[in-house]
Amino acid sequence: MNIFRTGIGYDVHKFAENRKLILGGIEIPFDKGLSGHSDADALMHSITDALLGALALGNIGTFFPDSDEQFKDASSEIFLRHAVKLVKQNGFEIGNIDATVVLEKPKLNPFIPSIRKKLAEIMKTEVSRVSVKATTSEGMGFVGEGEGIKVISIALLFKVRE
Ligand code: MG
Repeated sequence: MNIFRTGIGYDVHKFAENRKLILGGIEIPFDKGLSGHSDADALMHSITDALLGALALGNIGTFFPDSDEQFKDASSEIFLRHAVKLVKQNGFEIGNIDATVVLEKPKLNPFIPSIRKKLAEIMKTEVSRVSVKATTSEGMGFVGEGEGIKVISIALLFKVRE
């Protein structure tokens, strides 16, 4: 019997001028944003992939190809909401989510409470089940040089019905 399922999510986006920086559905004040087809919310993309991975249903691109014009500059909430719907449809509930955002700048800590609240709302779960942490890359590599950000996350699902 498959009681528990886990999934990993990973996403990377490059910083770009004239874009808003959106992480976990929250706009973070910064002089750059992230480039991407949608609003480039790497945190939401990573969590979406963790949920889809736990269900073994592919990844975000399986459902929302970046060649599709209707998702241009779209809010990534659409992707996460869809993954959450699939979790439910497959008889699972979210046990917990843990995500690590790797970025050199800006400092994310002041925004983490609102990000967790927003993500929990979208996932229809309690804030205590949604962990978001930030760390730097100690100046090394593309993240360290401030070229972009990286997000790694994990989701645990548990079966509530067949
Ligand atoms: Mg992405």
